[in-house]
Amino acid sequence: MLNRSIIIGYFLFQGTIPTEHSDLLIFSDILFLVCFPLYLRKNIARTRCIPALLIMTDFVRKSDGEWAAELTPDQFEVTRNKGTERAFTGKYNKHEATGAYQCVCCKAPLFHSKQKYDSGSGWPSFWQPFIQENIETQKDTGHHMVRVEVLCRICGAHLGHVFDDGPEPTGQRYCINSASLTFQAEKSEQPS
Ligand SMILES: [Zn+2]
Repeated sequence: MLNRSIIIGYFLFQGTIPTEHSDLLIFSDILFLVCFPLYLRKNIARTRCIPALLIMTDFVRKSDGEWAAELTPDQFEVTRNKGTERAFTGKYNKHEATGAYQCVCCKAPLFHSKQKYDSGSGWPSFWQPFIQENIETQKDTGHHMVRVEVLCRICGAHLGHVFDDGPEPTGQRYCINSASLTFQAEKSEQPS
């Protein structure tokens, strides 16, 4: 929207240049053609500083039998049957290493230690997903509650729920089961 406004504004500005000053028109054209792509590049880099490679585009669909063969019973129960692990029992609840948390089923990157915090709830908590495009949410009315369920968009795995009682800057709390995650340490943290 802003980009379109800049282009329209530029042409309106050009309309104010008297036609006898064609050199000024050419100069402003050159200036625009150089500066606008630079502005776009800077803006895209600022809003999308996440490598595009991490955004998964291939969906993963498998039968329950195939998932059961690949996952532990706990992982299967949480991710494919929308189960919930008991609070304070998951291996990533107090996990503080630096790196990305992937979907245990399809390995899509979902969360990152940079956005992890201790909510005291007993489940790994994040104030924002790492790769928003790999996550989807939907209304969950189970257990006599209205909640927002968090799922892996790539394979449909149930991950947990998101609540509006998180810390700044988002105010959100992604309450995620450890059983739905696997951890990929950042290179500097991996033993050489
Ligand atoms: Zn997945």
